[in-house]
Amino acid sequence: MGNNSFTESEISKFKEVSYKLGKNPSLVQAAGGNTSIKSDKSMLIKASGTWLINSLNKDIFVEVNLPSINQKISNEHDDSFEEDIISKNNLRPSLETSFHALINYKYVLHVHSTATIANAISSDSKNELEKQINEDFIFVPYYRPGFTLTMGIKKLIKPEIKIFILENHGLIVAGDDIEETYNLLLNIHNKLDKTRNNKFTNLEVTEDLEIENYYLKNTEKYRLFMSPDENLYSLFSKSFYPDHVIFLGPGIPTFVEKSQAEKFIGNLKIKNLPLPPYFIIKNKGLFENSSTIPAAKEMMDCFLEVLLKVDLSNSLKFLSSEQENELLNWDVEKYRQSIN
Ligand SMILES: [Zn+2]
Repeated sequence: MGNNSFTESEISKFKEVSYKLGKNPSLVQAAGGNTSIKSDKSMLIKASGTWLINSLNKDIFVEVNLPSINQKISNEHDDSFEEDIISKNNLRPSLETSFHALINYKYVLHVHSTATIANAISSDSKNELEKQINEDFIFVPYYRPGFTLTMGIKKLIKPEIKIFILENHGLIVAGDDIEETYNLLLNIHNKLDKTRNNKFTNLEVTEDLEIENYYLKNTEKYRLFMSPDENLYSLFSKSFYPDHVIFLGPGIPTFVEKSQAEKFIGNLKIKNLPLPPYFIIKNKGLFENSSTIPAAKEMMDCFLEVLLKVDLSNSLKFLSSEQENELLNWDVEKYRQSIN
């Protein structure tokens, strides 16, 4: 630490909790999720692009100047906070640093809990969540992660409230005691954690489809993607939360026939465009590219969990092309046109 702002025992408990969150794939996937601890002068926050699961074995936290960041938030001055970095480990603070600074508790834990996401993507989420949680929380409508989201939280924040549910995104829990904060987070996740759609996973695999560079994920876990349920099939190509778009692209391509999938892949190869990590053929299932990276695999498992847990009788809210675009900084529609 730069200036001994934190005690060793505080840091070790904080890192232990960060690790426990990071190793639970229902809470944190790949580089998603972030944690922070504050002193008067500074804040230690997960670095951008690092994985919480590495909290104990790697240097993944950055110390930043808290008063300076809070000044920028008061001035509504969007910033990467690079000049506020105190530590000398060449890491950059998380994209979500500003809301950690804004929430005035010693500890802020943010996760992409699959149970929270599944319950925060319908048009009536706020009321549905109130029935299930029985505790005061702030429901934050969807904003692009980063400063825009922090400004959205700032409009709604109340000093006494420690729970924030982010529509189409995840969960933030804050507190001054690390154990209490961690337990509160688990408690919210567990209250919302209901598997609703597992009847789709006992489908039998009828044929073995071969498509170059891809293989069918035919283990029991992935059979939900073989479901003949039209309602469910219509969700496969949608994006419901930011990391899905960032790691898997704007929606998983879906096809009714195998020949369409082959044509699509063939066209991408001719144009020398990157092949998608996954696609789905109706009633056949999920196909994974042989070079799909671990982060994308974790994100696909996250999507699967959300689909298992979502209430299909609700009217669901997915990200629009515009919202996908602002996450990717490139024109999604152009991409979609180029691959069709
Ligand atoms: Zn997040």
